[in-house]
Amino acid sequence: MNDWFEPGLPFHCTGCGDCCTGEPGAVWLDDADVTRLAAHLGLEVQAFEEKHVRLVAGRRSLFERFNGDCEFFNRETRGCGLYDARPTQCRTYPWWPHLIESAEAWEGVKRECEGARVTEPLVSAESIRERAAELRRSRAR
Ligand code: SF4
Ligand code: SF4
Repeated sequence: MNDWFEPGLPFHCTGCGDCCTGEPGAVWLDDADVTRLAAHLGLEVQAFEEKHVRLVAGRRSLFERFNGDCEFFNRETRGCGLYDARPTQCRTYPWWPHLIESAEAWEGVKRECEGARVTEPLVSAESIRERAAELRRSRAR
């Protein structure tokens, strides 16, 4: 069965940083994220968790600042301090299953993310499905 986005969807991240800021939220972490991020920062896993991980409804998340920014977001550069090792949740945005479940849901993404309002390049349906599956696997861990 074909997905509604079978022709592909135009997307190009502009690096605006809006998805790292704003309303309070969570940046969920799975075991692989924690291990990778600890190594990236040169910390033991326990030290990384003590310093950078909070529990939200029993699940692990990065900390955020009082203004809602992720603690690793740099307001001056609008960049991510973890970019090469960033969490699966960040790496797979905006291809989260609930955001691509319908054209209407995708319209919501377009309101929030300027990278989804471009006209090119087209991201293939296969790539979109792979990213969505990656996030599903992460959530299951
Ligand atoms: S809101 Fe969209 S364009 Fe801006 S940084 Fe996030 S993914 Fe990229
Ligand atoms: S880890 Fe990086 S990409 Fe993810 S929310 Fe924080 S600053 Fe943004």
